[in-house]
Amino acid sequence: MIISFSPPFIDDDIRKEVMDALDSGWITSGPRVKALEQLVAEQTGVSSVACCNSATSGLLLLLHWYGVTRGDEVIVPAYTYAATALAVMHLGATPVMVDCGTDFNMDTAAVRKAITARTKAIIPVDIAGWPCDYTTILEIVNEPAIRKQFAPATETQRKLGRVMILSDAAHSIGASYHGKPTGNWADFTVFSFHAVKNVTTAEGGAMCINLPAADFDHEEVYRTLKLWSLNGQTKDALAKSQGAGWKYDIVYPGFKMNMPDICAAIGLAQLRKYQSLILPERERVFKTYNALLSPHPWSELPPFQSEVKSSSCHVYALRIKGITESQRDAMIDRISTTGASVNVHFQPLPLLTVFRERGYAIHEYPVAYDSYSREISLPVYPELDQKKIEYIVNAVVDAYNGVMRNG
Ligand SMILES: *Cc1c(COP(=O)(O)O)cnc(C)c1O
Repeated sequence: MIISFSPPFIDDDIRKEVMDALDSGWITSGPRVKALEQLVAEQTGVSSVACCNSATSGLLLLLHWYGVTRGDEVIVPAYTYAATALAVMHLGATPVMVDCGTDFNMDTAAVRKAITARTKAIIPVDIAGWPCDYTTILEIVNEPAIRKQFAPATETQRKLGRVMILSDAAHSIGASYHGKPTGNWADFTVFSFHAVKNVTTAEGGAMCINLPAADFDHEEVYRTLKLWSLNGQTKDALAKSQGAGWKYDIVYPGFKMNMPDICAAIGLAQLRKYQSLILPERERVFKTYNALLSPHPWSELPPFQSEVKSSSCHVYALRIKGITESQRDAMIDRISTTGASVNVHFQPLPLLTVFRERGYAIHEYPVAYDSYSREISLPVYPELDQKKIEYIVNAVVDAYNGVMRNG
């Protein structure tokens, strides 16, 4: 049986929304992007949401908005996708990597230790859809000693007066922490709508604005982010196309990071059924894996639900107890021969050439390496029925038995 890892969720409602966009005569940024922004805001309970063309762009734009530049440091987890750190490097700043805890998310004690007078931001990542400890991270950046050593270099930094928290929630739309959806905890939260994520626009991202409301006008921040994501141009293409609207100005050296309506159409139709259909189906798949894998003493189940957290079930990050990296690789080879697709989330950044060449060394991140070396991500999406899930689990069990017997 061939089981792919993360096919996009495409049904007739999505096809219709895309066709309507095509037939509307307007395919780049316009009413559907607006509608998607409003729907994300509604579902997360955040006042302002700005869409852009990827989560990577969103992270870069928000760090730039905060004035992060050469000489600055931004704390990122070693256990994440490369984009988290690349966004920092694109601005000439230095990603300072910290190890993760056993739940895959950044270790807050390590974050505390990594803060220096050069630290401008922290980027927590909700790995596999499991929210980070945001209250702890907020407490850390608000500690009097840490606020005191914060060295603001711009008006915006003076206004916030502390290290900014920028959540990389590429995996965690629909997750919740202390009963509130992700989007409500960090100063900014960035969702990814890449093709493999829980909600997709093929490529795309959303920036949730949650700065302290006493000091920041969210509508104004929204307008700035939209302006800076469209070349700093005072009128977008839609406004220019209407009436005698040809004349515009460029008021800032902005980027080109806007989301097209044709993409927003996919996300809009998906998000309309995310809470009621797609997310519950993902939870069902997660629970089924839990039930089938928990009898095996070698299985270490991923975090899913706790008193205060609920996962968005992005991928099922299974770990195998007592195996080495090469045994894990051998298991994946065996699983692949069955037609079931699995994956690894993630190769810690210090294992990747671009970071290794810049001096990051994997031995400094032992928990990240341990999780990585024993991890196999199992697919999670609504189309996985009981039979397919059983097939995948059987493939994993056979691979474990095969590898442990034959070395
Ligand atoms: C996918 C992903 C991103 C990047 O998302 P894009 O929308 O593709 O830019 C960033 N961080 C993490 C953790 C991701 O998994």
